[in-house]
Parts: sequence; C-alpha cells; structure tokens
Amino acid sequence: MNVPRTAVVTGASSGIGAATARALRAAGFEVLLGARRAERVEALAREIGARAAPLDVTDPASVAAFCEPIEALGVLVNNAGGAKGLEPVAEADFESWRWMWESNVLGLARMTHALLPALERSGDGHIVNVGSIAGFEVYPGGAGYTSAKHGVRAITGTLRIELLGKPIRVTEIDPGLVETEFSLVRFGGEAARAANVYQGMTPLTAGDVADAVAWAVTRPSRVNIDVIVVRPRDQATATRVHRRSEAEREPQES
Ligand code: NAP
Repeated sequence: MNVPRTAVVTGASSGIGAATARALRAAGFEVLLGARRAERVEALAREIGARAAPLDVTDPASVAAFCEPIEALGVLVNNAGGAKGLEPVAEADFESWRWMWESNVLGLARMTHALLPALERSGDGHIVNVGSIAGFEVYPGGAGYTSAKHGVRAITGTLRIELLGKPIRVTEIDPGLVETEFSLVRFGGEAARAANVYQGMTPLTAGDVADAVAWAVTRPSRVNIDVIVVRPRDQATATRVHRRSEAEREPQES
C-alpha cells in the first residue's frame, strides 16, 4: 500500500511557502501549513485540502505546540523567513538583524531540531531549507540578510554530514529574485520601493521555486539533491540584473 507522505511547510501564508504547499499537495502529500497569520494558512489549507496551525518559528513554545502532534514526517520545508532593511553595516539597525537571524537561522534550526525524531521515524525523511543566492553571494546593504542565509547554508551542510547513515535527505533551494511579499516586508510595507526591485525585469514566480522543491522531494529515496540554485534569466548575480526600458519589454506569460 502506498501511504501518502506528510509534509510540513513553514511560512506557508504567502509567496514561496504557499506555492510549495500547493505543489506538494498536488504531488500527493498530506500537507501541514504553518505561519503567524493563522487565518491565511487556514484559508489556503481549506482550499487545497490540507491542515494548518499557527506557527511562529522564533517562539520556542509555538514551535513545540506545532510539532508536538507530529508522529512521523516525510518532508520538512523550512521556508519561513525574509529580509528587513537594506542599510550598510555603518547604519545597521540591529533589531532588523535580530529579526532576520531569529527567523531565517534560529527558526530553521529550531524546527529541524523539533522534527528530526519524526523525520527519522518515518523511515524516509527529507529536510528542504529555502536559502537564497544570498547564501553564497554578498551585496552592499545586504549583510544582515546575507549573513543569515550564509548561516542557513552552513547548517544545511552540517546536517548532511551529521545525518549520514540515517534515512533523512537534506536539500537547499537557493532562489534569486522572486516576486512575493519579500520586498514589501524588506521595505516595511513601502509598495513603490518594493515594486522597483522587479522594475523592467522578469522575476521568478513563487510557483517556479515550488516546482524545484516538489522535484527534489519526489526523486527516489536513494537520490539526495544537495542544492538547487534557481534564478530569473534576467539575473546573473545578486547585483547584475538586466532591466529593459518600457518599449523593449516582452509580453509576460501569465
Ligand atoms: P514572503 O511572501 O514574505 O513569505 C515569507 C513567509 O515567511 C510568510 O508566509 C511569513 O508568514 C513567513 N514567516 C516570516 N516570519 C515567520 C515566523 N517568525 N514564523 C513563521 N513564519 C514566518 O516571502 P517569500 O519570498 O515567499 O520568502 C520565503 C523564503 O524564501 C524566505 O526564507 C526568503 O528569505 C526566501 N527567499 C526569497 C527570495 C525572493 O526574492 N522572494 C529569494 C531568495 C530566498 P507570516 O508573516 O504569516 O508568519
């Protein structure tokens, strides 16, 4: 009998997490969605036939309550996170740094720590960490975020060594520019500044990244996809982006 595997997706209330929840559900997983905006994950869960619970990955009590009922787990997608601010180190706002480190790094480590026994118990576990090209590139104003995503990369590599011999795979997905609520969060809700990030170029959609996650977790159990870097065609590095003038723009695929 083919028992459906269960997947947990953190930060499933918008963007890449929401698209990943949809993609994994479509691939036949039982999905449990978590995020702080509980009403959003509950609405999405109802729509796709999944389950949802409130989750703040920076709060140990919230992580414990979310993870406690999970007996066995096939896939953990550590996606919750994001960036705040774009100031040089000389002007750093350390509350923003703390937010980035708490959510992207400690949150990911806390969720992984809590769910490792359930991942092992399933006999075929898989941890997917959503990193970023900021995990191996740096750019001016980005140190708070790039240092956090470099941390994600270090944890991912460490886990792959520590879990050798156990039935748990470890994958990192590193996107470039994806149009989600990411830039809106980074710029404190300033919509015009957020839109400017994608001006004149074609960013990835959240679904493009979700495709990569779904592909990695549906390979045979013997196959570990270490890292997938997925960028828009219009982006060569974190700072080298091809932008067209209004007149040059191609019609967009929907
Ligand atoms: P997004 O639309 O802003 O989504 C971020 C998600 O993280 C939201 O669902 C948010 O939900 C959740 N989240 C934030 N803090 C949380 C916390 N403390 N506890 C639980 N959930 C939390 O941005 P996105 O682009 O989809 O980002 C998803 C991941 O992709 C992030 O790790 C980000 O760093 C990474 N990434 C994004 C890009 C990009 O260009 N967009 C590129 C590379 C990597 P709540 O606010 O409801 O909690």
